Amino acid sequence: MNVAGLARPDIVAMTPYCSARSEASADGILLNANESPWPLIEDPQARSDEVDSLNRYPEPQHAELRRRLADLYGLPINHVLLSRGSDDGIDLLVRVFCRAGVDTVLDTPPGFGMYRVAAQLQGAGITDVPRNAETLDLDRNGILQALQGQTPPRIVFLTSPANPTGDLVDPDFLTELLKTASGRALVVVDEAYAEFTAARSFAAMVPDYSHLVVLRTLSKAFASAGLRCGAVLAQPDVIGLLMRAIPPYPLATPVLSLALRLFDSDVRKRQRLLVRRIMRNKSALTKRLNGRPFVRRVWAGEANFILLRVDDAGALVQHCAGLGITIRGFPSAVMLDNCVRISVGSSEEMARLDAALEAFQPGNSTATAGNRNG
Ligand code: PMP
Repeated sequence: MNVAGLARPDIVAMTPYCSARSEASADGILLNANESPWPLIEDPQARSDEVDSLNRYPEPQHAELRRRLADLYGLPINHVLLSRGSDDGIDLLVRVFCRAGVDTVLDTPPGFGMYRVAAQLQGAGITDVPRNAETLDLDRNGILQALQGQTPPRIVFLTSPANPTGDLVDPDFLTELLKTASGRALVVVDEAYAEFTAARSFAAMVPDYSHLVVLRTLSKAFASAGLRCGAVLAQPDVIGLLMRAIPPYPLATPVLSLALRLFDSDVRKRQRLLVRRIMRNKSALTKRLNGRPFVRRVWAGEANFILLRVDDAGALVQHCAGLGITIRGFPSAVMLDNCVRISVGSSEEMARLDAALEAFQPGNSTATAGNRNG
């Protein structure tokens, strides 16, 4: 079965919407998209190219940004779909490949919560292959077995580095998984935190596997969560299927122009510097956490956060909150009892956190933490 055979037959059969801007060039006199002929803002202070062109729809898949991201991830431009962050990519994949009430996605809890939320929204099922309750390692055999069953999941979601455990997908395991999944399922590797590890990105494998998808984002190591800009990396067949479901103009003009600015050489230089700074702060934080008496276990991982198990996570979350520091608890997530996730911040923020942890007296507080997972 080729990869289109894994997609929803009704999506494959449908006539895709064709927007005015994708149908014709944006040059000359434009009377084809029911736009205003004038921009609204005339204030000379506020004017810029992007403000001047706000009366026009943006390019649906901005060629220049697509090329920049393709170069960044080492792939041809037709292997890149611009999305509104990776959350958007996850949603598109589930909507295009999973039939409501029929297909499932494979999830490996505890992990990033959006894969199952996207499945639930689509009416798809969830095939859970839980991690090891003690070590939180992936159950690789369980994943392979689920794929070999009578009704394999349509999408396998893996995260490398994973959230919140920080572990990487082993390349040999991924190769084996891709072999097993061939003709049965799409394998999606969410690399939202890839820039924080020295490990090679799986993007390089995308040209070799028609059923491999890699998700990247500008939200984390590119310090641009507010932009809502990411990329789905896959072979053109998959990209073409996702294009059927993506809204006609997903990225707004100001977002596109700000995203392009991230590729200026001075911004790229600062971007690399900030990642190095985070990693320095992370190793200092890891050392200090390992020495704290109330810390039971540390998963330092490969991303810009650390997961720990402590004696009383609720009390720690509440203690930090009282000092104006928000860390993440997981009171209702499977296997993450008494775990907290701490994102690595600036040196000043880490010094404040350190003082808060120093002052923490376990057993003095009753508390409940937030109820989210992602
Ligand atoms: N994947 C993972 C593993 C994440 O942790 C997150 C955000 N927490 C996302 C995807 C979503 O990122 P984006 O901002 O690109 O939508």
